[in-house]
Amino acid sequence: MLKVGITGGIGSGKTTVCKIFETLGIPVFYADQVAKQLMVSDQLLIEGVKSTFGAESYFPDGLLNNKHIAGIVFENQNELDKLNALVHPAVFRAFDAWANTIPSSVPYTLKEAALLFESGSYQMCDVNILVKAPLELKIERIKQRDAVSEAQILARMDKQFTDEQKVQLADHLILNNENTSLIEQAYALHQHFLQQ
Ligand code: ATP
Repeated sequence: MLKVGITGGIGSGKTTVCKIFETLGIPVFYADQVAKQLMVSDQLLIEGVKSTFGAESYFPDGLLNNKHIAGIVFENQNELDKLNALVHPAVFRAFDAWANTIPSSVPYTLKEAALLFESGSYQMCDVNILVKAPLELKIERIKQRDAVSEAQILARMDKQFTDEQKVQLADHLILNNENTSLIEQAYALHQHFLQQ
């Protein structure tokens, strides 16, 4: 079965695009959501996090101490790399397990991940889609969705590849500006994938 990766910068609209594919009957694996769940459910990952960042990475009830982890990794790329090196393999395992549950009648699946290219996981997909949107629109949409400042949004963007870098690695583009129809673009790609 064809595995399609889909990514885009923060606020580009990748989740919105995935919802369109879901309405077309395509199963979507939301890697970032799964990663959050795995942080509190995957024993191998939990042990790795504790031994790397300390037992205080978790509260006694098993919940993640986000503040502790963020305090370590936010300003330190080396520590962030260590966290990613623990999380990404766990997500790969979860994706494989999930893909094995998909009936063979399903024509293709989508894997949505913010860091699809940065993590290298795009190489495990057959083709990859990049959702692109103008910077001002991304900032505006994120400000409306989350209670965050423009500086916080730009700091998050700073940790991702630029669109120029991502374009080089993408097979297909979806433009999420205010002049093009997301539904039409997603439907055209859906038709394309059905013919693969
Ligand atoms: P993140 O990486 O931060 O999770 P994302 O790329 O998944 O972001 P979405 O959550 O899909 O982006 O979109 C960001 C916000 O912009 C959401 O509130 C969404 O409803 C809105 N949005 C996205 N695309 C459009 C659009 N074409 N028209 C109107 N609103 C949109």
